[in-house]
Amino acid sequence: MSDIRDPHRRTGRLDGRCLCGAVRIVIDGDHVAGVGACHCTMCRRWSGLVYGTFDVARDAVAATGPVVRYRSSENAVRAFCGTYGSHLWMEMPDEPHAPYEMIPGPFEGTRDFPLISEIYVDRRPAHVPLTGDHRTRTRAEYEAGAFHIEGDDP
Ligand SMILES: [Zn+2]
Ligand SMILES: [Zn+2]
Repeated sequence: MSDIRDPHRRTGRLDGRCLCGAVRIVIDGDHVAGVGACHCTMCRRWSGLVYGTFDVARDAVAATGPVVRYRSSENAVRAFCGTYGSHLWMEMPDEPHAPYEMIPGPFEGTRDFPLISEIYVDRRPAHVPLTGDHRTRTRAEYEAGAFHIEGDDP
């Protein structure tokens, strides 16, 4: 099965920071220059509106500052700035090869990243009309094929 991320794989550097500037992040290495959005209940609660991330190889991420990690489900941890709360990434610490799912907002260099996938589209709020020809999956479609299921309210 082809991976929709493949055409967007890049190696390079991106510099980012949280809103208050206490956390600095340098990505230097392999990443996917395209964003996937998720409308599951957890992502909606955490983001407040729309949650989207791009994949970054774990060894390409270097962060300094007060990063706080919240274990939001059995195998997923969400990281944010411990000073003023900007959201930063999600990671799966028990899966050594899982990429960091990095929130694009802190990085100026992500502005031209296209939306490449959207999951839990059946949970998408009416006020978040994401358009384009990206791949979409409902909760049932996603969970049927997911290696890692993040969890959602029934
Ligand atoms: Zn901050
Ligand atoms: Zn989600």
